Amino acid sequence: MSKGVLVVVSGFSGAGKGTVMKRLLEKYDNYALSISVTTRNPRPGEEDGREYFFRSREEFEKLIHDDALIEYAQYVENYYGTPRSYVEQQLLAGKDVILEIEIQGAMKVKEKIPEALMVFVTPPSVEELQRRLSGRGTETPEVIAERLSRASEEAEGMAEYDYLLVNDDIEECVETLHEIIQSEHRRMTRNEEFVRTIKAEARALTKN
Ligand code: 5GP
Repeated sequence: MSKGVLVVVSGFSGAGKGTVMKRLLEKYDNYALSISVTTRNPRPGEEDGREYFFRSREEFEKLIHDDALIEYAQYVENYYGTPRSYVEQQLLAGKDVILEIEIQGAMKVKEKIPEALMVFVTPPSVEELQRRLSGRGTETPEVIAERLSRASEEAEGMAEYDYLLVNDDIEECVETLHEIIQSEHRRMTRNEEFVRTIKAEARALTKN
């Protein structure tokens, strides 16, 4: 069985990444979404083990110490990190694993796993971003301001990603992301075994 593709998705808070990922998983079978660990408080409606594993600072630091995270980062005063074991298991099982993480963590993944597919999601405009962040109604004005300033920092790093995904229409965005990932499976370097076999067969044929 071929190994799955590790897909890193970043994008401004308010770009609608969460909705796009949820829809992608509903529509297609071959994806696994990594659930991160965080020290931030759950938002209304969020459940431990579904959106995140909500943990204390001490528990998080123990995970770092035990090397149980592929990457972690601080974002607006909280820790966020990707548990290693689930991601490795799913990739081995042939699933395409999606990490929805911010840019610092994304750069660490790119360094450690250069074949990871890097996708950056953005709303069509900054005005739209501001509208979505305020419309969510779950964050204080200070946190919104901090998230917007973080967005401007993250914009500086967009060029480090392989693909740009503009989230104007959810369904269209989901389809485009699916196509990008499926194309990645066709990359020559991901099909070395097939290439080797077909080359050997062609060689054998010419010898006879
Ligand atoms: P939120 O608090 O809105 O759920 O997430 C804040 C930011 O943290 C988002 O950009 C989200 O993608 C990012 N994030 C979520 N999980 C992780 C993780 O495991 N590692 C890193 N580096 N960032 C994460």
